[in-house]
Amino acid sequence: MTAPADWMGDRVRIVGAGPTGALLAILLRRRGLAVTIYESRADPRGAPPPTGRSINLALADRGIAALRRVGLFAEVFARLVPMSGRLIHDVQGATSLQPYGMRAAEVIYSISRHGLNQALLDLAIGQYGVDVVFEHRLEAADFAAGVAQLRDLRRDRPVSVPMRPLLSCDGAGSRLRRDMQAAGLIAASQQALDHGYKELKIPAGAGGEYRMLKNALHIWPRGEHMLIALPNDDASFTATLFMPNTGPTSFASLSGPAEIENFLTGHFPDVAPLMPDRVAEFLAHPTGFLGTVHASPWAVGGQAAIIGDAAHAIVPFHGQGMNCCLEDCLEFDACLDGQTDWENCFREFHARRKPNTDAIAIMALENYLEMREHVADARFRLRSALALELERRFPERFIPRYSMVMFHHEIPYATALARGRVQGRLLEELTAGASTLAEVDFGRAESEILRQLEPLATIRSSVTNE
Ligand SMILES: Cc1cc2nc3c(=O)[nH]c(=O)nc-3n(C[C@H](O)[C@H](O)[C@H](O)COP(=O)(O)OP(=O)(O)OC[C@H]3O[C@@H](n4cnc5c(N)ncnc54)[C@H](O)[C@@H]3O)c2cc1C
Repeated sequence: MTAPADWMGDRVRIVGAGPTGALLAILLRRRGLAVTIYESRADPRGAPPPTGRSINLALADRGIAALRRVGLFAEVFARLVPMSGRLIHDVQGATSLQPYGMRAAEVIYSISRHGLNQALLDLAIGQYGVDVVFEHRLEAADFAAGVAQLRDLRRDRPVSVPMRPLLSCDGAGSRLRRDMQAAGLIAASQQALDHGYKELKIPAGAGGEYRMLKNALHIWPRGEHMLIALPNDDASFTATLFMPNTGPTSFASLSGPAEIENFLTGHFPDVAPLMPDRVAEFLAHPTGFLGTVHASPWAVGGQAAIIGDAAHAIVPFHGQGMNCCLEDCLEFDACLDGQTDWENCFREFHARRKPNTDAIAIMALENYLEMREHVADARFRLRSALALELERRFPERFIPRYSMVMFHHEIPYATALARGRVQGRLLEELTAGASTLAEVDFGRAESEILRQLEPLATIRSSVTNE
């Protein structure tokens, strides 16, 4: 580890030992900085997964690049379950596979949230000597005094720590963000989606086998609501039902066991029998909140900054929230190069990162409609097939937007959004009046691509992240 510059101070304090806080701590330790993390929960290492948060997550290229940077990807790899595409289930139970990418290696991975968090903390504490103080909750920040107030939950007593810097990675409901906002130091809002989610379990078969196709992300698109399921490495699946909170078919309308049973067996007849505890789980599991956090700027002088979900939580429909947070950590680390103080570092981080986190927030919301509705539509399927075919023919200029986001960490989110808009219009035009790929005019496709889309090589060479 190199010696930290004088301006960096003697210790960085981080709030929250989730994926963002743990990875950030490792990266700062690699720069020789002393780091203490304060985490409100008890040590998760060796403990069973907590209930109430999503059990598994989709890990993609951006998250993988970050894990590779600290040497963790090889270690977690054995526990990942690759998913090569979306397996769409219609109401009759018929299925069709929509591949995610054009190459065999273009897969996303299902990973246990708890397992990944444990691995990050093991590395942070065991190998890098990060000091993690569990059961300490940030309760308030006094920016005038430069002091953060925490509570030691074991002894129920207050603890004060200096900021400068305090890096708050305390998730979507961030205490620090709310205090910065209340003090009028930043503008922030949480835009609630009027849909929520609930998790249900699909256990492994009696012989320990997967009861549906293992290497796919399963989707039951039903218009206003949808069910998805990701495989776990113990041959179970975790299903998540996304649905309006209120209205005729909603979490509010499904209150009794009979209604719940009718709803699940009526809309998802092929998978409902694979969820033996469906009604009891539906009643017992909390309905999760979904929303997008907007905040700007992300720091107060050189004292304190919010990073990860605390700064820009998004809805989960692109499977990018955590991937984006892990990429934040690499970007933050890069912003430390050549700096002279924390304030400059925070300012540069916000300037470089905000256009990209804004872009993924938009794409995540757009993907909800795609998953619950469009994937079942023949025109959408033709456009998706054409997008992959155009990538095969013109890989230097055309990469489907989903692939840019999931498989190309060298392409910033904002670029994926901007190019995706041009490509989307092109796909609409090229498929107008066509019902198969054979009917598409590829000569016109080529000339439009050459005219409208810059070569990707220029973007790739300008990106510093790995
Ligand atoms: C249903 C659902 C599905 C998702 N699926 C995916 C997916 O497939 N792929 C993906 O990339 N992302 C996914 N996400 C998003 C992902 O969960 C988040 O983006 C990610 O967990 C954010 O990491 P974080 O460390 O910033 O925050 P968190 O994971 O929320 O961690 C924050 C930490 O701070 C602690 N903390 C909070 N408040 C305090 C306090 N006051 N004092 C001290 N400690 C505190 C918490 O206990 C926690 O440990 C999903 C999210 C949801 C809700």
